Amino acid sequence: MTAALKLKAIRDWFDVRREPLVIAGPCSAESEEQLFETSKQLVESGAVSAIRAGIWKPRTRPNSFEGIGPHALPWLTRVKEELQIPVATEVANAQHVEHCLRAGIDILWIGARTTVNPFYVQEIAEALKGTDIPVLVKNPIHSDLGLWVGALERLEKVGIQKLAAVHRGFYTDSDAPFRNEPKWEMSFALRAKAPDIPIICDPSHIAGKRNLVEQVSQTALDINLDGLMIESHITPEKALSDAAQQLTPADLVSMINRLILRSSEP
Ligand code: PEP
Ligand code: MN
Repeated sequence: MTAALKLKAIRDWFDVRREPLVIAGPCSAESEEQLFETSKQLVESGAVSAIRAGIWKPRTRPNSFEGIGPHALPWLTRVKEELQIPVATEVANAQHVEHCLRAGIDILWIGARTTVNPFYVQEIAEALKGTDIPVLVKNPIHSDLGLWVGALERLEKVGIQKLAAVHRGFYTDSDAPFRNEPKWEMSFALRAKAPDIPIICDPSHIAGKRNLVEQVSQTALDINLDGLMIESHITPEKALSDAAQQLTPADLVSMINRLILRSSEP
């Protein structure tokens, strides 16, 4: 591990309401009501420590729902203020960062399709200079450890201290059983290079199917990853993105309760 990557542990900067650390919310903010209602149910359960929702969506093909954009920022700040919970969204360029900083978004994440591009990561890092906002860096689409570490280093170099990695799995051309191959060894490799960087697992994008999210989450906890980022939607089957993998807030909470029980078994 390089000295540059000696960073604060997640529990120093993240107010974890209940173990395990869970960040949850819809893949995409679709309407104020959908975001608020999903968030309300998640927050009232007491099981989540932050709400996530994408507003700029990196879709593989054009003509898909590409997110609401800055118009959804006030929806996120309403969740933050009325439900008293930190809110997180994805940024893919400097302009996104500026919008989020102005709006008071609490946590940013860099998506798998952005971590692959050093130019974009660098411009995001520069837009973040002088702030101490937490940033989560998803693994790049393919299993290139250097790009993952490099993105963390670019952020660290501009002074971002509250950094975590997100393990969301790796591209595969077979979606059996999972949409993205977990390649858990990548988390071990990242941990070996940067032992102080917390690693959060995103079981939703690994699993790709809601009935497999629990199994992936359990493995993540079994290998001592530091938290979970899980997609949840009030009506998952109607979701405008990632409909097959989202869980209702109630299903998400029962899943978390089962995970806790299993993790406490001798
Ligand atoms: C997401 O979190 O909704 C997302 C687009 O994820 P990823 O960058 O991991 O594909
Ligand atoms: Mn998604």
